[in-house]
Amino acid sequence: MQKSEQLFSQAKQHIPGGVNSPVRAFKAVGGTPPFISKADGPYLFDADGKQYIDYVLSWGPMVLGHNNEVIRKAVADAIENGLSFGAPTELEVQMAELISTLVPSMEMSRMVNSGTEATMSAIRLARGFTGKNKILKFEGCYHGHSDSLLVKAGSGALTFGVPSSPGVPESVAQHTLTVEFNNLATVEEAFDQCGDDIACIIVEPVAGNMNCIPPVPGFLEGLRAICDKYGALLIFDEVMTGFRVALGGAQAHYNIKPDLTCLGKVIGGGMPVGAFGGKREIMAHLAPSGPVYQAGTLSGNPIAMSAGLAALNAIQAPGLYETLTQNTERLALGIQAEAKAVGVPMTVNYAGSMFGIFFTEVEKVVNYQQAINCNTEQFNRFYHKMLELGVYMAPASYEAGFVSAMHSEAIIDQTIQVARSALESL
Ligand code: PMP
Repeated sequence: MQKSEQLFSQAKQHIPGGVNSPVRAFKAVGGTPPFISKADGPYLFDADGKQYIDYVLSWGPMVLGHNNEVIRKAVADAIENGLSFGAPTELEVQMAELISTLVPSMEMSRMVNSGTEATMSAIRLARGFTGKNKILKFEGCYHGHSDSLLVKAGSGALTFGVPSSPGVPESVAQHTLTVEFNNLATVEEAFDQCGDDIACIIVEPVAGNMNCIPPVPGFLEGLRAICDKYGALLIFDEVMTGFRVALGGAQAHYNIKPDLTCLGKVIGGGMPVGAFGGKREIMAHLAPSGPVYQAGTLSGNPIAMSAGLAALNAIQAPGLYETLTQNTERLALGIQAEAKAVGVPMTVNYAGSMFGIFFTEVEKVVNYQQAINCNTEQFNRFYHKMLELGVYMAPASYEAGFVSAMHSEAIIDQTIQVARSALESL
């Protein structure tokens, strides 16, 4: 860790907290984050030359594993033609067509540069389309860092939201209602109270920012029905679940059709890309065909589109998602079985190639309160032992884990063995 420690202290001189995105700083688990120098397949290599099996995968994008040859070649080829034009390209046409083939509810789409931009723009569009002001989101769901989404529930059963960060005005936060994930009654209550002014519900169809919490049966169906009843739009934030829970995303897996969908991560193949899209009649309200403004200097950038197209073509390989799902289940159940054998209370959740490990006595974790009540102190000790033994997981107990196509059964089994040693050391 010598080189990482040196880099971290250097980084802290000129970058707030030493990192360009907070969770990378290991604040939740403590210690020094390994600085990464390269990645390949299922592995990360740090600045001191240590190898790790990686279950973060750049926070989701690397569903094919790191440094994929096909994506790398697509980027190298695209670079030959110039880095950015600020004018329409054929690549963008191909991308929009491919998105609507893989995710049919996205009849039209617009490219952006991050998940944050995708959700922020989708919400503006929902408000512009419906003429309503409020939005409804769920406790523990994360939709990027735009003002109206950095909002937590106020105290009391149904109060208007309060900012979850300084810098977000209360006057903005009060338009965001926050209710409990997997609890339709709280959604109905919110709509009873102010359904006439709710533009949209935005939801992670499988929550991945309070560890991994899949929807309980009927939850997503219920959201669809409530939106239809009140004329609100249903936005699926599939930045994490898109091309990960299934080829067609969570909406294919659970067979629910949202009005708008937000994408990110996998769609860029590792480049900074996001997208939002949905029904033609809604998307037609977007500038320049409609009045709702949205734009981007580098949106649809040719290098990013080339990487994304290569990724989206490669993930269509027959059987890829079946194998991913099987291997993820093998990992999650394998670790859970070791915990049981060692006598550590633990439960696991998984959906497609997302998983979450909860140190808790609770049998099935379905909401934020249960997720944050887990034993974080035990998680942190487990985390550091895993890291020491060469397994890199998300450095906080409230983050989902990811499996890639390069995580073979042998690598999964090796990870389960390591987890056994880590659990025994607790
Ligand atoms: N939505 C979800 C569900 C996410 O998980 C994230 C990022 N983890 C975002 C939005 C924001 O994406 P980005 O970090 O690319 O802005």
